[in-house]
Amino acid sequence: MRKNIVAGNWKMNTTVPEGIALAKDVVAASAKVPASVKLIIATPFTHLVPVADVVKGSVVSLSAENCADKEKGAYTGEVSAAMLASAGCEYTILGHSERRQYYGETDEKLVEKTKLALANGLKVILCVGENLEEREAGKHFDVCKSQTENVLYNFSEEDLKNIVIAYEPVWAIGTGKTATAEQAEEIHAFIRKVVADKFGAKAAEDMSILYGGSCKPSNAKELFAQKDIDGGLIGGAALKAEDFIQIALSF
Ligand code: PEP
Repeated sequence: MRKNIVAGNWKMNTTVPEGIALAKDVVAASAKVPASVKLIIATPFTHLVPVADVVKGSVVSLSAENCADKEKGAYTGEVSAAMLASAGCEYTILGHSERRQYYGETDEKLVEKTKLALANGLKVILCVGENLEEREAGKHFDVCKSQTENVLYNFSEEDLKNIVIAYEPVWAIGTGKTATAEQAEEIHAFIRKVVADKFGAKAAEDMSILYGGSCKPSNAKELFAQKDIDGGLIGGAALKAEDFIQIALSF
């Protein structure tokens, strides 16, 4: 059975003390959230160790926002999957569109990152999604298919149990412009089929596919009511514990 998940992506926001305070607020409010909903917060690297302490013993899981595509060594400025696991992370986001767009993250690199993350016991939230130009050109299905296949098809059905997909149309991220529930559902069902084509119906049915892109308390209910939308990857609204928890109460 697939899980309902609400994951907050803090991006490059909050200082360490602000992040600790936000994590404490999330943990305090998490008592209201039913056990059927998995809560995850993805913080900047600097915050992981102190926030791991805050979430310890709570229902909130910790995630990084990225990890290196190399195991270890002379890669100045990079943070390895082993480091993340040792810092207390359970998950890492990979392939966020901001990383693809600004930092040259390719599907090839994402395969390496995913391998290392899984090898170090981390679960992966793999982001896919088309930009505005691709959507307007009617290429959104092709883009989501190739981004999903290029990474996922390198892994086994067993690996799939530790991978969550987040469909994030780039034109909806941080823009206030949400995909309609119908637009999102159409792509989610399509991505599930792409998964089923390689791994079979059962593996695809068991996979959590999250929606991301200006998801907030006012639209989460309608999005999460869709058959193939299993929760959200939340950016801006994850920076307010109250909004984040409100979204988690929208199933
Ligand atoms: C994100 O960056 O993953 C995201 C969904 O951002 P926002 O909710 O702010 O659109």
